[in-house]
Amino acid sequence: MRQPLVAGNWKMNGSRASVAELLDGLKAGIDQVTTAEVAVCAPFVYIADVQSRLDGSPIKWGGQDVSVHEAGAYTGETAGPMLADFGCHFVIIGHSERRAYHGESDDLVAQKFSAALAAGLVPILCVGETLEERESGVTEQVVARQLDAVISACGIDDIGKGVIAYEPVWAIGTGKTATPEQAQDVHAFIRGRLAQSSGAVADKVRVLYGGSMNPKNAAELMAQPDIDGGLIGGASLKAADFLAVCSAANR
Ligand code: PEP
Repeated sequence: MRQPLVAGNWKMNGSRASVAELLDGLKAGIDQVTTAEVAVCAPFVYIADVQSRLDGSPIKWGGQDVSVHEAGAYTGETAGPMLADFGCHFVIIGHSERRAYHGESDDLVAQKFSAALAAGLVPILCVGETLEERESGVTEQVVARQLDAVISACGIDDIGKGVIAYEPVWAIGTGKTATPEQAQDVHAFIRGRLAQSSGAVADKVRVLYGGSMNPKNAAELMAQPDIDGGLIGGASLKAADFLAVCSAANR
């Protein structure tokens, strides 16, 4: 059985004070609410604070992006070994905001996936279609293309070392959530696509849903057979909301 994972994506939000308050709230409540694996993905500058506050707690942490390079003259980049040096367990790869605002191609995303694994991190690979793509009926083609780029660059066994997050772009930060059926359909498609290369990997890889998941809709989404947790943006910024989503992930 796949252990559910709930990962918060703080995006570019927070201050040292608000991060401290949020983490104290999460630490105080987490043991009571969930058997799921829980993580927060913080802006780079707060990762040291996150590490010192979460060390010894069951909550893991991670980054929101990683360089394809290990070190060197790459101004502004953060390398996988640097994230590992600060105790990161996860890193988000290919979030739609990075694909849209930073021009990240499928190939670059695949290189980042590989760089994350090389640094000993668990990549959370984001895939998902825009509203235009959904309305044109090409959701599966888009998701297949994004997945196949990583499968062909890294190999199916490496995909098995990561996590996949299905995040329909039209649902991110919009308050519009995919229905449980819409999400389940795409999750089943993703698992089926992986199964074409390896049934064992398809069975074991966790596929998270992301896109306006919140305390009200989380339980129904996470009750779907192929939804193994969530990648949570807005609702990860308040301890009570995030804890409520974590408790919906109990199996
Ligand atoms: C995200 O940024 O990955 C996300 C799912 O955001 P939100 O929950 O705010 O839609």
